[in-house]
Amino acid sequence: MEKNAVIFDFDGTLADSMPFLEKIGVQIMMKYFDVSRGDATQRYRTTAGLPYEQQIKMNFPDNPKNEEAIEDFERLKIERIFEQELFSDSESTVRGLLKLGMGVFVSSSTFQTTIEQYFRRKGILDLFKEIIGYRPGFEKGADHFNHIQSTHQVQFKDMVFIGDSLKDHERSLGFCDFIGITRMFGEQDFRKVGHTGHMVANLSEIMDILKKKT
Ligand SMILES: [Mg+2]
Repeated sequence: MEKNAVIFDFDGTLADSMPFLEKIGVQIMMKYFDVSRGDATQRYRTTAGLPYEQQIKMNFPDNPKNEEAIEDFERLKIERIFEQELFSDSESTVRGLLKLGMGVFVSSSTFQTTIEQYFRRKGILDLFKEIIGYRPGFEKGADHFNHIQSTHQVQFKDMVFIGDSLKDHERSLGFCDFIGITRMFGEQDFRKVGHTGHMVANLSEIMDILKKKT
């Protein structure tokens, strides 16, 4: 696959944060909406990859407790998100791509200031051409891909998006190629939603798939 730009999802793709996020995400659903752990886990996973506020609003439409639940989640998240480690091959993979002359981006449903601070603390903020976080009306997917296209002059066909959730695959459709990381979801899950492209178990494997477009 010949590309100029590699766009990484953040949570569960570069950062090993999904066990933590799922834990607090499920806790909040159980606490505010009186659902069982099994039900909450199912609701969390089927909407994983979206900003938590959207996960809540999709699962519990118009519930008066939504705002309080979302605030509670964001408070718990910011307390401990910086303790979550990068995957062991995240930094080396990014450096490998840079060596090939690729532009490396992050597109995330986590707030901009949070992911920026995360990478600054890990000492690798300057590896990325741009880190693009979430704000209402500016989401991972169409908004971020359009931004990269217009700001960095990268055509959609020269981008690839790497993510760990089924929603990541969905959001790449009509824009760019997608490589699925099989962690939270397995190969069959990605195939079931129509992903026909590559999948990898570890980030470093993308080095065997990607070549710099000349
Ligand atoms: Mg993710």
